[in-house]
Amino acid sequence: MLLKLQLYRNSVKAGIILGFIVFIVGCENTTPKQYPFTYADGIMGTSFSIKASQLPENITVKALQTQIKKRLDEINQRMSTYVADSELVLLNQSRSTVAQKISKPLFKVLAAAEKISQKTAGAFDITVAPLVDLWGFGADGHQSIAPKAANIKLLLLKNGYQKLRLDEKNLTLTKEFPTIAMDLSALAKGYAVDEIALILENNNIHDYLVEIGGEIRLKGYNIQGKKWRIAIEKPNIHQRELQKVIPITDIAMATSGDYRNFFEQDGQQFSHTIDPRTGYPVQHKLSSVTVLSDRSMKADAWATAFMVLGDDAGYKIAEENNLAVLFIIKTEQGFAERATPLFIELTEVEK
Ligand code: ADP
Ligand code: MG
Repeated sequence: MLLKLQLYRNSVKAGIILGFIVFIVGCENTTPKQYPFTYADGIMGTSFSIKASQLPENITVKALQTQIKKRLDEINQRMSTYVADSELVLLNQSRSTVAQKISKPLFKVLAAAEKISQKTAGAFDITVAPLVDLWGFGADGHQSIAPKAANIKLLLLKNGYQKLRLDEKNLTLTKEFPTIAMDLSALAKGYAVDEIALILENNNIHDYLVEIGGEIRLKGYNIQGKKWRIAIEKPNIHQRELQKVIPITDIAMATSGDYRNFFEQDGQQFSHTIDPRTGYPVQHKLSSVTVLSDRSMKADAWATAFMVLGDDAGYKIAEENNLAVLFIIKTEQGFAERATPLFIELTEVEK
């Protein structure tokens, strides 16, 4: 039985029906038991869903929901490009090139982004923000025409993660170029998932599923006392089909794809993942990437990074970094899978 999960994200942006579906698959033969804690709502331009299989007596559903909501709002207020006065938006608007004090949570996310930029030689780069906007995938809306090559070139010269400098001791960020701007959409949801997991742990809850916009973190067991069963969607534009179902737990999972958020011009598709080295949306046969990791933020960021790298360069980097990655690749016949040894090991069905 399919137990739901609806993620309609960015649905207005590209003027088409968009969204990822992640299915949480329950047991086939039993009447579904009720989770003692569930919470589903919207945040960060997407939906979230949280379930816990046990709830300690000293906390009520309402109190836990309030704690979670508060944390999500705080994160949004720091990291969203859609909130007019978020910490991130104010930093993006600032033209200062001296060190600026930033909050600890923002520092943490920026530091994680920097690390992955370094490991991918800039394939992952949060300073693509102006390019994301130019291509119409930013906060102010959608378009269906590719920008002029000259404008792309101009922005490329002004971008680059190397133009951001972090100072951990003083918790500061220095923008070495006045107009440099950051977009955390590729990893902020993952960060938020980790923070919610932490809230649950702090409340003595150790059997849960946290999901925001398709970024998932799992711990312990579902209500049937079994591993969580998560389905990966086939990267189909027109139809929603399952590629595979994996029973996993004590892990985070993120999926990035080119098949939900894009626009089409003259038969060519332009997706929301931008290659910071060319300034153009990625164009290759890689349709989606799923990453498993201990942290949701890491899985989220790497999934986006691999969408840029493609499956050939990506596979190598995944192996070098001992990451669990599944690449789903378009072929003449449909889709082919390429998984790293660690991904296979982690998703092996127990006999
Ligand atoms: P989603 O936001 O749909 O979950 P991702 O996690 O893959 O998907 O993040 C994609 C978003 O990340 C884009 O919409 C854009 O805002 C931003 N982005 C695009 N290209 C890059 C890149 N090369 N490096 C970092 N962030 C990027
Ligand atoms: Mg991502």
